[in-house]
Amino acid sequence: MKKLEERILRDGQVLGENILKVDSFLTHQVDFSLMKEVGQIFAEAVKDAGVTKVVTIEASGIAPAVYVSEALNVPMIFAKKAKNITMTEGILTAEVYSFTKQVTSTVSIAGKFLTSDDKVLIIDDFLANGQAAKGLITIIEQAGAQVEAVGIVIEKSFQNGRQVLETAGYRVLSLARIAGFEKGQVVFTEADI
Ligand code: 5GP
Repeated sequence: MKKLEERILRDGQVLGENILKVDSFLTHQVDFSLMKEVGQIFAEAVKDAGVTKVVTIEASGIAPAVYVSEALNVPMIFAKKAKNITMTEGILTAEVYSFTKQVTSTVSIAGKFLTSDDKVLIIDDFLANGQAAKGLITIIEQAGAQVEAVGIVIEKSFQNGRQVLETAGYRVLSLARIAGFEKGQVVFTEADI
């Protein structure tokens, strides 16, 4: 997605060896018009897959996922990271190691929101080593639902997340793919959509 790549080049900040900060349009402040286009592009890419639910993980997956869900006209569910006393029954859980926070946490979705008839599109803001997506896949498959694809806004292709997911048989669709950081500059490789 050309517009996304341009925005990353303009506003993204490279932190250290492998982190990109995009808090001015995706992970903190949200550019809704860019996210709306993100939603439309993902929706177009999966239009023949019969997707019935969009699933993401809080917090930064929510903004793109809600626009994907609007474009597909299906509900969006976000996995919760904190234990919540209002979630009392039928909880599906998975352990996820957070790349940015460097802690493992239990993420959960109430089972009533996923059924064995569901075809799910996973959406996340970043793909690094694939741990967040793997956790979501575990939860979705516990419900007997099917994962149609994993849609990623920004993939860091120099980390092994895509390989992990594709080897396990999942389709990865990324809007921007970063080959690496050279002298603090983002270098892209060809994106999927
Ligand atoms: P993974 O689970 O694929 O290792 O990492 C993906 C998750 O870690 C995403 O949900 C995202 O929140 C976070 N993440 C990974 N890499 C980056 C990054 O370079 N920048 C930001 N802002 N978040 C990242």
